[in-house]
Amino acid sequence: MKHFALIGFPLGHSLSVVIHQTLMRRAGTDGDYILKETAPQDLPQAVDELRRLDGFNVTIPHKIRILPYLDGLSEKAELFGAVNTVSVKNGRFYGDNTDWLGFLKGLELAGMELGGKVLLCGAGGAARMAALEAVLAGADLTIAARKIQKAEALAAEIKEKLNAKVHTCTLNAASGTYDLIVNATPCGMFPHTDECPLAEETVCRAGSVFDMIYNPQETKLLAAAHSAGVKTANGLTMLAGQAAAAETLWNGTVFTRDDILAAVDAAGKELEKK
Ligand code: NAP
Repeated sequence: MKHFALIGFPLGHSLSVVIHQTLMRRAGTDGDYILKETAPQDLPQAVDELRRLDGFNVTIPHKIRILPYLDGLSEKAELFGAVNTVSVKNGRFYGDNTDWLGFLKGLELAGMELGGKVLLCGAGGAARMAALEAVLAGADLTIAARKIQKAEALAAEIKEKLNAKVHTCTLNAASGTYDLIVNATPCGMFPHTDECPLAEETVCRAGSVFDMIYNPQETKLLAAAHSAGVKTANGLTMLAGQAAAAETLWNGTVFTRDDILAAVDAAGKELEKK
């Protein structure tokens, strides 16, 4: 039997166990997946235990902190400067990043294209990944953050890494018409469900709106888009997509659209229980 885990802090609301259990069951993988809540100061001791596993996922606050412990790093993890999946081979750690695969899978399952004029809300870790992927896909990208300096810092990083120019603005000032809006901020997430990162007029004019938040499944942002007839998707498919990509790295298993939707369904039910 293989053993996998998620390290992060806090992990109280994590849906990873139910998602990985569903994926492993469908793939016929003999494995278990547990949560290992690890405070920042406990990471050095946790690493010894992690070496006995076959692989583990990494979430906040360890996505960058894990880097010094790795024996190898994938190109994507290097590009994003963050690791969410580690494969363990003979006690050695190989770091990868599957968040981008989850993001692209979430868009694909919703029938949304990462192209044309894209407005990205946020300038943190998930926004960095989405911004780099949008530029690699050829989109005309605007990064909107609550502080213009944060948006400009991410734009400068993209210029340095990909030699591409992107637009910047504050969330308050974001206006215009976009083919796709992506929310990579926690604005609107439980318990702050009455918040929305953008003005409603901007949301209602968009072609599609993808919110990385999945709790609640319909944020205020998505509700505004939905009531204006705009195509919407929440972050559950992205979460299941990155988990499926991690399973592929660890076990070589390949997942169909139905497998990922089954994991999304199980995660949605778990969320309702919580
Ligand atoms: P992060 O690195 O902490 O970045 C958060 C970003 O959101 C920062 O730009 C921050 O701005 C901004 N922000 C925070 N609170 C805000 C508010 N109330 N209004 C406007 N902007 C706000 O976090 P992250 O890892 O990028 O995650 C961002 C969101 O994506 C979270 O909701 C997370 O749950 C979600 N996510 C989902 C998935 C998935 O699989 N579905 C994967 C990754 C992340 P400042 O710099 O000004 O604080």
